[in-house]
Amino acid sequence: MIYFVYTVDVELQNEQRILKRLKDGDVKFAPPRGYEYVKTGTEEPEGRPVVVGTGPAGLFAGLILAQMGYKPLLLERGADVDTRTKIVRAFWENGRLNEECSVQFGEGGAGTFSDGKLTTLIKDKRCAKVLEELVRAGAPEKITYSHKPHVGTDILKRVVKNIRKRIEKLGGEVRFNTKVTGLVLANDRLKGLRINEGEVLHTGIVVLAIGHSARDTFTMLNDHGVHMSPKPFSIGVRIEHPQQLIDRAQYKKFAGHPKLGPAEYKMAYHSPTGRSAYTFCMCPGGTVVAAASEAGCVVTNGMSEYARDKENANSALLVGVRPDDYGSNHPLAGVEFQRRWERKAFELGGEKLRRPCSACG
Ligand SMILES: Cc1cc2nc3c(=O)[nH]c(=O)nc-3n(C[C@H](O)[C@H](O)[C@H](O)COP(=O)(O)OP(=O)(O)OC[C@H]3O[C@@H](n4cnc5c(N)ncnc54)[C@H](O)[C@@H]3O)c2cc1C
Repeated sequence: MIYFVYTVDVELQNEQRILKRLKDGDVKFAPPRGYEYVKTGTEEPEGRPVVVGTGPAGLFAGLILAQMGYKPLLLERGADVDTRTKIVRAFWENGRLNEECSVQFGEGGAGTFSDGKLTTLIKDKRCAKVLEELVRAGAPEKITYSHKPHVGTDILKRVVKNIRKRIEKLGGEVRFNTKVTGLVLANDRLKGLRINEGEVLHTGIVVLAIGHSARDTFTMLNDHGVHMSPKPFSIGVRIEHPQQLIDRAQYKKFAGHPKLGPAEYKMAYHSPTGRSAYTFCMCPGGTVVAAASEAGCVVTNGMSEYARDKENANSALLVGVRPDDYGSNHPLAGVEFQRRWERKAFELGGEKLRRPCSACG
């Protein structure tokens, strides 16, 4: 049986009574609408708030601060999204890595060259605010009611640019090619940030939204004594199949029906040892691309456009790893563990910054 699943908002009088009569477990109360800004304090802030990073976390922190009238300053080590797109294209074509502006770094953050999936599996009223802001910035309205909304890399680029313009219109400022390379501390309190190994920016309020790829920044923070601890994550490979094969497996006789988009799948195996293997970030009608956080290392990722109309489906096939796999108790042991595997992938691929590839018959 094939279902279409949507989220629909309806306003009812006597909703409790009506819901009881419906006796349908699939009909639930949505969290109340309307975003509530946090309560502001009474003291003058110590300088202008600074947000480091313009990934989803940094952009939204910047947007909310701007909407609250704080005129934030956003710092981003990479370039604006248009320049970044050219740099990333050159990386895919010639394997030339720019370590400051890449698939991971630059306006829009790590997910800019991705599938742009917006599923969170959480029920938080702030999710509605995120979707509304994305629509306001040019994302299709459909993301507010689709069961598994996605934006696609083509639309996402326009959306992040428009969010930046809104922040600027509200008095905020965004500086690209600006890397935070040090902290200025006095009596264990933050007094400012060192930028590009030189300029010092004075501020007491910083949001670090640096994502999971800025290894040099993690090291800098660790050297400054910022507390951090290793956490579990997952590693694996990307698997790729013809999209038609997945459509036939999932939709059976309905495969190819114009009302059905490209099919998705999800699989998991929970081993009695407590370790799980599972598919993640399945990317219908997309492509597998190479990415790298630093020279001599390579990883792969799935990317698609809004239409998801490419020939192949791909998905990550992952296994969970834990701090006791990393071989040391150092706070950054997990990063070293990642690096070891990324170097192996680089060597396996002939020491080229291309996706290493192995075909199974
Ligand atoms: C290739 C890829 C595809 C993905 N696809 C999806 C998807 O489809 N859906 C989904 O929900 N999630 C996806 N994810 C995960 C998602 O991208 C991340 O969860 C998300 O980007 C995290 O957001 P963030 O703002 O915390 O960090 P990031 O997006 O990593 O942004 C951090 C930003 O900080 C900047 N920065 C770092 N250090 C400094 C510094 N010292 N100074 C100044 N700037 C700095 C970086 O340049 C970067 O732009 C994907 C991730 C990757 C890598």
